[in-house]
This record gives sequence, structure tokens and C-alpha cells, in this order.
Amino acid sequence: MASYGGDRDRGDRAAGLLGGVPAGGGAPTMGAMSLDVQRILPTPEAEDLLALVRELAREELAPQVEAAEAESRFPGDAYALLGKSGLMSLPFAERWGGGEQPYEVYLQVVEELAAVWPSLAVGVSVHALTATVLDRNGTDEQRETWLPRMLGGEWLGAYCLSEAQAGSDVSGIRTRAVHEDGPDGGAYVVSGTKAWISNGPHADYYVLFARTSEDARSGLSAFLVPSDTPGIGHGAPERKMGLHCDPTSQVMFERTRVPAAQRIGEEGRGMAVALSALDAGRLGIAAVATGIAQAALSLAVSYAGQREQFGQRIGDFQGVQFMLADMAAATGAARAAYLHAARLKDAGKPFGPEASIAKLTASDAAVKVTTDAVQVLGGAGYTADFPAERLFRDAKITQIFEGTNQIQRMVIGRSLLRR
Ligand SMILES: Cc1cc2nc3c(=O)[nH]c(=O)nc-3n(C[C@H](O)[C@H](O)[C@H](O)COP(=O)(O)OP(=O)(O)OC[C@H]3O[C@@H](n4cnc5c(N)ncnc54)[C@H](O)[C@@H]3O)c2cc1C
Repeated sequence: MASYGGDRDRGDRAAGLLGGVPAGGGAPTMGAMSLDVQRILPTPEAEDLLALVRELAREELAPQVEAAEAESRFPGDAYALLGKSGLMSLPFAERWGGGEQPYEVYLQVVEELAAVWPSLAVGVSVHALTATVLDRNGTDEQRETWLPRMLGGEWLGAYCLSEAQAGSDVSGIRTRAVHEDGPDGGAYVVSGTKAWISNGPHADYYVLFARTSEDARSGLSAFLVPSDTPGIGHGAPERKMGLHCDPTSQVMFERTRVPAAQRIGEEGRGMAVALSALDAGRLGIAAVATGIAQAALSLAVSYAGQREQFGQRIGDFQGVQFMLADMAAATGAARAAYLHAARLKDAGKPFGPEASIAKLTASDAAVKVTTDAVQVLGGAGYTADFPAERLFRDAKITQIFEGTNQIQRMVIGRSLLRR
């Protein structure tokens, strides 16, 4: 039985937890822990897919995570690998280069990735959000032109909605797109600064929401803008609490000319376009949060089964066991909530409020479970020798982005009273 005395060096302490597997130069990785989740998948193909993802996550991703996060290194190679493995395209139609998988399968893949590398899973979810905008609202010509590149992993996307003064209230967007007549419908000249853009400095294209009129609800329009378009710059990455491998920055547009053919949906429908894709995106974040919670639970259970105090395993104390039980219950509820919403979506039923319920439930679970995981590990949980503190830092943002949990409650509450 391993013990974690203060006289052990840091590498030994972590290796003890991981069953003697020395991880990445003495530092622990998530890869040596099993994510022992019982899943009901709709097809044998989906079962094979999940097995492949687990193997890829364990063999290829896990060994890189700790060092990459410590250095805030953008995981370009990891995205390329996911693209090559068909994992950037799962919920989209084969016709456009997609994997034609139900949303419930795609989300379970995101959960598995998040359990190993939350930053990467967030990047995948944001990328899928950008492709969803085009898939749902673009013309067939636009889909044919852009989607295969996005889904093949050649192109990584960013979603440019928020601005410094327009967070929860996106009707405050000030970035302007002014139409100029010309051949082929002319072009829009875009000026303004977007804030908090995930993948911002590394994106190959931006799905941009800009103001085309002063009307609060019908004044926004959506555009697809390749990042090499002249007149685009980005700020330095924000110095964030977590998700260090998912750089977030401002994106600046200075008289950037965007051909009218790159407007997605009708002029003035930008708000509806943004919100329709966000329902699906929130489920991606719920799956990320569930993966983070699952990883923290697995870690805490492993630790509690090995660490001894007062002559017994700490997991044998009811006080610790009850904490683990609550963590397992919260994680299971998070998974059930996102799967329910995903199955509604797959069945073609409305799922907006259920997506908000899933995001609220799963992100609160992630924060609670990761907080308790640090507690179960005691002092070791507060160090970077174990991933508990990283998971704790990564969990918090899931309550904030793609609509804070206060905004999710507004969506849920309003939908209840509309019925
Ligand atoms: C790491 C990170 C990545 C992000 N990635 C992206 C991205 O890729 N693309 C993008 O467009 N944006 C992105 N965002 C922006 C994110 O979506 C916003 O931060 C979020 O929507 C909240 O906006 P805000 O920060 O301006 O907070 P505010 O809107 O100022 O909110 C502050 C507080 O007030 C509360 N509040 C606001 N309105 C209400 C209300 N009506 N009722 C009750 N409470 C309310 C909020 O819940 C919050 O607690 C990202 C943010 C972060 C931190």
C-alpha cells in the first residue's frame, strides 16, 4: 500500500498514487487513471469510437498535458491528430465531411477528452460551435466551400461574439459591419474589437457577430472571416486562472473587408444565429464539465483508497466516503442531464432549456467535485504534483462562458413560465 508521507519526494508521491507508473518526468498525468464510466451507446460503431478515443487520450494526449499546461503551450499537434482521427467532425453530415454521429455520441467523446485534457476539449467544443453556425444557417454553397476544411481538422475556428462591454448582454455589441455596394453583392467593412475569444490567436477563421443596424434585436449579422483577411489582429492571451492551453484573446478588426458572400444567414438575423448555435455549444461545455468532474472523482477515489491516516485508509472514514459519494452523485447527475438534452436534440425535439439545465448542473458539479477532490487529497491536493488543483482551476470557467449560470437560470425560468 502506497503512503504519502511528507518525506517522500514529489515524483514518488505522484507515482504512488498512479500505481507505480512514473508519469512524464516524475509529474503525474491523467492518463494513468481509468475513466471507468458505464455508457449506453446507440451503435457498435459508437462503442468502437469511444474505445478509440480513450486509447488516443491515454496514449497520445495524457503524456503531454502537465508540461503543456505549465508552459501555456497551444496544442496545435493535438488538434491535428484529432482532425486526422475524424474527431473534429463527429456530429456533422457525411455530405460535408462529417462523422454523422448522434450528438449524444459526440458529447461523450468530448467528455472523455475533457477528463484527460480540459483545455483541448474546450477548443474542440468551440470549434464545433463555429461549424454548427455554418451548418445550420449557411447556404449549400457556403457549406460546400467551408465545412470540409473545418471538419477535416485543417482549419480551427473561433467564435467572436463577446465584447468588453457586451458579455451577458450581447445586444451591446459595438463592432460594426458597414455594407458597401460592389460586384457579387459587395462587401462589409468591419471595425471593432471582440473580447475573450477562445482559440483567438491561433484560429484559422472567425465566426463573427457584428452590428449592421442600430436595432437592439435585429441589428446583428453573422459572418465567416478567414484569419488571414487583411485588417485582423489579436491581443496578447489573457492571463487566466486555468485552461492554459486554450488561449483567449481580443480579436481586432480594422476596416476588414468581408465579401457579402461570407455573411451567414440573412442580414439582421445574427442574434438568432448566435443563440441557436449556443444551445448546442452549451451541451459541449456540459460534457467538458462532466469530464472534469469525472477525472477529479477518479483521482480522489484512487487517493482515498491508498492514503492512510490513523492506521487505516482515509476512504474508510465515513466523512471521506460521504464526500466521495456526493461527488459520484453530482458527476452522474451531470452526465444524465447532458445526455437527456442531447437525446432530445437527436430526436429533433426542442432542447434549449434542457441544454441550459445540463450546463448549469454539470458546471456546478465540476466546481463542487473538483473542490472536494482537492480536499480529499489534503495538502497534496493543493500542490501541482497532482492534477486536482489544475482540474479545480479549469472547472470554474464552465460556470461562466457560453452564458453564465445566472443566464442559464434566466433561460430555464423564462421557458417554465412560457409553458
Ligand atoms: C476563458 C474564457 C473564454 C471565453 N471564450 C469566449 C469565446 O470563445 N467567444 C465569446 O464570444 N466569448 C467568450 N467568452 C466570454 C464569456 O462568454 C463571457 O465572459 C460571459 O458571457 C460573461 O460575460 P462577462 O464576462 O462580460 O460578465 P457580465 O455579463 O458582466 O456578468 C458579470 C456578472 O453579472 C451577472 N449577470 C449579468 N447579467 C445578469 C442578469 N440579467 N441577471 C443576473 N445576473 C446577471 C453574471 O452572471 C455575472 O455573474 C469567454 C470568457 C472567458 C473568461
